Amino acid sequence: MKIGVLALQGAFIEHINMLKSLGVEAVEVRLPEQLDGLDGLIIPGGESTTIGKLARRFGLMEPLRAFAESKPVWGTCAGMIFLAKEITSGTAGKDQPLLGMMDIEVARNAFGRQVDSFETDLDVLVFTNGDKRPFPAVFIRAPKLLAAKGDAHVIAQLPDGTAVAAQQGHWLVTSFHPELTGDSRFHEYFLSVIAQEKEQSQ
Ligand code: GLN
Repeated sequence: MKIGVLALQGAFIEHINMLKSLGVEAVEVRLPEQLDGLDGLIIPGGESTTIGKLARRFGLMEPLRAFAESKPVWGTCAGMIFLAKEITSGTAGKDQPLLGMMDIEVARNAFGRQVDSFETDLDVLVFTNGDKRPFPAVFIRAPKLLAAKGDAHVIAQLPDGTAVAAQQGHWLVTSFHPELTGDSRFHEYFLSVIAQEKEQSQ
């Protein structure tokens, strides 16, 4: 299995390290041709306007959309914003390029200034292997998932009901940063989505 991490800006090294610690080949992606032969892609956290503008400048917008149509993609934090179809008005950066793939509505920086960063334990519904340990989720100027529509469904919520992770087929989004914790269960879950898809296409 070979996984790419979009490496234009943000926390891509941490994802690469986490994937390598799981014994998976992980490569940095900055150019369209580097998507060739990948089984999945992670779009990291960082600054979604910057990631979008760099993606446009490097001719990555259409190649990323084509890749996401056929292969699993996981967006963390800024990556979640970049994958969303809808950004609530007032929170989108001016001239912010979006891949616009997933049927989710997202509000940027929606946890307020005082709580720009926080850590909390989450119950994640898709860890169905009997593993009931809470997931330590790190939120850094995180977006809120205001709505999951169509085939998209919420897979993790804060205790107050705020949605913070969703899945739509082979697309996954989390408003937090699993690569910044020592807990690899989200990465393992993404690998299981990829493995399932590979199996089905054989
Ligand atoms: N606030 C950033 C944005 O709007 C996301 C923050 C993050 O990725 N940790 O793009």
